[in-house]
This record gives sequence, structure tokens and C-alpha cells, in this order.
Amino acid sequence: MCLYHCELLEARLTLKRPEVIVIGAGTAGCVTAKRCAELGLKTMLLDRKPEPEIGKKVCGDEISKSHFEFTGIKPPHGKEISSEVKGADVYPPNMSNELQVRGWDEFDGWTIDRPRFGQRLLQRAVQVGVVFKPEVHVVGPILLQERVAGVVYLDRHTDEKMAISCKLVVDASGFAGVIRKKLDDPLVERDIAKEDIALCYREILDLKNPMAEPEVARIYLGGDAAPQGYAWVFPKGPKTINAGVGITGGKGKASPKSYFEIFKKQIPLLHGARVLESGGGAVPIRRPMKSLVTDGVAFVGDAAWQVNPIHGGGIGAGMRAGIILGEVAKQAIARRDLSARGLWGYNTLYLRGFGRRLASLEVFKRLLQAVSDEDMNYGFEKRLLEANDLMAANRGDGLSIGMRNKIGRVKRGASRVKLLLKLRKAAGLMKKVDRHYAQYPGTPDGLENWTRGINKIMESARFSS
Ligand SMILES: Cc1cc2nc3c(=O)[nH]c(=O)nc-3n(C[C@H](O)[C@H](O)[C@H](O)COP(=O)(O)OP(=O)(O)OC[C@H]3O[C@@H](n4cnc5c(N)ncnc54)[C@H](O)[C@@H]3O)c2cc1C
Repeated sequence: MCLYHCELLEARLTLKRPEVIVIGAGTAGCVTAKRCAELGLKTMLLDRKPEPEIGKKVCGDEISKSHFEFTGIKPPHGKEISSEVKGADVYPPNMSNELQVRGWDEFDGWTIDRPRFGQRLLQRAVQVGVVFKPEVHVVGPILLQERVAGVVYLDRHTDEKMAISCKLVVDASGFAGVIRKKLDDPLVERDIAKEDIALCYREILDLKNPMAEPEVARIYLGGDAAPQGYAWVFPKGPKTINAGVGITGGKGKASPKSYFEIFKKQIPLLHGARVLESGGGAVPIRRPMKSLVTDGVAFVGDAAWQVNPIHGGGIGAGMRAGIILGEVAKQAIARRDLSARGLWGYNTLYLRGFGRRLASLEVFKRLLQAVSDEDMNYGFEKRLLEANDLMAANRGDGLSIGMRNKIGRVKRGASRVKLLLKLRKAAGLMKKVDRHYAQYPGTPDGLENWTRGINKIMESARFSS
């Protein structure tokens, strides 16, 4: 707390006082800022990047249609679309017996031109009145009487430390979590465990030959190229792809780029391809923060760990949150209650809804990480999980293995009883998580008890390898 009082004393307080300051003009920040402004709130959006860089992000570029249906945001169109995505082939480590998933509403959509899409979101926000300030590096919150009351930032043009106060700060700074990491508050989970981070490397590649099914995404689980992680090949055009690997951290592994080199050698489609663009990044792959708000501040997007723990998709999860947060901010400001209690509606609406789905997928992620390559190959060969199970799990319907299916699977999996037991345990825990999130408390008072419950479920979600 003292640190920011001192920083504040050094900083020059600007006179412009917006009601809402959103830090970060990524997809989550732009959507939140736009929603706040169109609901009549005076909103300022800050980003450390210059304006033309907004939208540039190392990413798999895939987004499903379902997020646009939920948010009402205009879907990608024209040059924003790189390719349609219709279905996915999911491969086990030995690359045979792949699951062909088709008609997967929650995944099918597009790969997008990220910079164009990001620029559109920014321009729409500015058009409804958001004041955008590029090249502004936020260094932390202003804290007054234990609540966040604004931000301290470095103005890159003048190198001056400045401070702006506001009613609500929104941390949409992505993986950096620039405000989250500076708070010492019982409601805020400040740090993320290494095993909950996927370190990624990806390349945009121009292929020598066109792909066989140019609209199908390919996902590769485990193996030498992606131990306890995944690799992907997403279509960007008939001869262009976005390919990468995501490796979960914490186990003294090599760099994701070195795994990608192994992957490139394994996949004949990638041989001789020309690299158009490359880069790395980190994604949080765990359930969202237990509370997405505390006094004077809300968290959205990667800063709030709103990402699908299985495939690392976070564009849609953050956009959904931004729409909800805008509505809650409007009501809280009208009631003049920007305390955690006043902002709590964002928690209940998001965590009992989409967040609940993300949380149960953390159990599924842990299961995938604990299954050996050999067992995974066996499971794919014997179809212990079908395409429908994958789709149901991703929808948030758990691993609902019906009675008829169960008998068939028990027969097919007879020689791998341990694997079947793991599957059964994961199915049960996913249901438990789902039920627990449905009971997310209506006020901060119930959070401690609720957190004890979810921690207990997650502690039992350990699967020996
Ligand atoms: C390799 C890779 C592949 C991925 N593939 C997919 C995919 O195919 N589909 C999908 O849906 N998701 C994917 N994701 C995840 C997805 O990219 C993120 O979930 C999403 O972009 C998060 O959006 P955001 O707005 O929360 O954060 P970001 O897009 O990271 O935006 C944060 C913004 O905050 C700004 N900022 C940070 N710190 C400060 C500061 N101190 N001061 C001012 N500004 C600051 C940054 O400049 C940035 O503009 C992938 C991620 C990676 C790394």
C-alpha cells in the first residue's frame, strides 16, 4: 500500500477524471471499454502499445461463432476472416486413430486476421466515445483507504509519471495482470502456479502444397513434440496455416520453440514450408480467479484467467466477460457502490455461467496431463472417448458417459482398468465442479466457504501418471 502512496506523491495527477479506466486494448479490454461507453459511462482505454500495434498478438487466431452469438458483436467478415473452420481432427501421440470431430458448435468458426479484428474492436470503442490513450505504460494502482482509486502510469512521450483517478479500474492487461499482481487483498488471487501456464510458440507458414481438407483444424496431444500439452495446425487459407505448440510449465522443460522444431519434423505437411511470421506467448490454463472483483477494480480476459484450460482459447471467453462487466459497472456506478459487494454481479453472472464451464475443463486438462502417451494411444484406438464426449465436455456438460456406452467402454478398456478408473473419476469431479459453481455465492460473505469447497474438489483432481 505504502509503495503506491509514494508513487502517487511523485506522480502528477491529471485533471481528466473518467468514470472507468480500462488497462489494455486487447480483445477483452476493447469490448469492455466499448460496452461501458455505449451504456453512457465516461471511459478511458490505456495501452502501452502505439495505436497501429493494437490487435497484433501471437495467437492461434481461432475463434468460434458461439461467442459472437452470445455477445452480439458483429462476427468477423471480409478481410478479417483468414479461413472458415469446420471441424477438428484430434490426434493421439502416435498420430493414428484420430478423432474426427464434426459439427462442433463450440469450436467451429474462423481463423481471423488478428490485427484487422483488433483494430475494428478498437475503432468501434472509440466511435461510441471511449478515449483511447496509446503508449501509456501502467505501473500500478492508486490505493486510497484500501481500495483501488485509479492508476499510476508512465507517459512514454514525456517519461513522466502520471496518475489518474476514476471510479472503476478494469485490469484487462492480459497475462501481465498489472493491477492484479500489485494487490494484497484476500479476494484477489495474485499469482498463478507454473503448472497452470502454457508456454506457446507459433509460426504462420506458407505450405509447399495445399492441405487436403483446408477448413479442418488439427490438434495433436502429448508425444515428444508436446509433452503434457498440445500442438495445433489451424487453416489460414488453402496454403497458409497457423501452427504451434503449447507446453505446460514448471517441469524444467526445454523452450516451446525447440518442441515446435520436433513437431515440424514429425508432420510431413509442414516440411519445406516458408515461415511468414513467428513468436511466443504465455496463456493461463486454469479456472478463472475465485473473485473477478474487489473494491474499485474488476479483472477481465487473460488478466482474470478466463481461458479454456484444454485448448487455451481465450478471445471469446474474455469478450463474453467484457459485455457482462459493462452492464454491472453501469449499475454499480448508478448506485454509487464500487465496492466488491457493489460489483459482485459480475462474479455471479460470469462464474455461474461461462466460468463454470471453464472450471470443469480444468479437471479434464489435469486428466489429459496425467495420461501416459501409451494409454492415450490405447484410449484413441479403443475409442474410450468419442467425439461426442469431447464436444459435451467442452460445452460444459461434463463427461456424461451413458449406461449403454459404459458397458461397451468397459469391455473395450478391459486391459487398462486404471485408465478407465481415471476417466470415471474425472467425469465425477467435472460434475462436482459444475454443481459447486452453480452455488457460487451471491455476496462476498459466502466466498471463503465456497473457496474451501472448490479447493477441496481440485485437490482431489490429481491423477497419478
Ligand atoms: C500462442 C497462443 C495461441 C493462442 N491461440 C488462441 C486461439 O486460437 N483462440 C483463442 O481464442 N485464444 C487463443 N489464445 C489466447 C488468446 O490470445 C488470449 O486469451 C486473448 O488474446 C486474451 O485477450 P486479452 O484482451 O485478455 O489480453 P491481450 O490480448 O494480451 O491484451 C492485453 C493488452 O494489455 C496491454 N498491456 C499489458 N500490460 C500493460 C501495461 N502495464 N500498461 C498498459 N497496457 C498494458 C498489452 O499491450 C495488450 O494490448 C492464444 C494465446 C497464445 C499465446
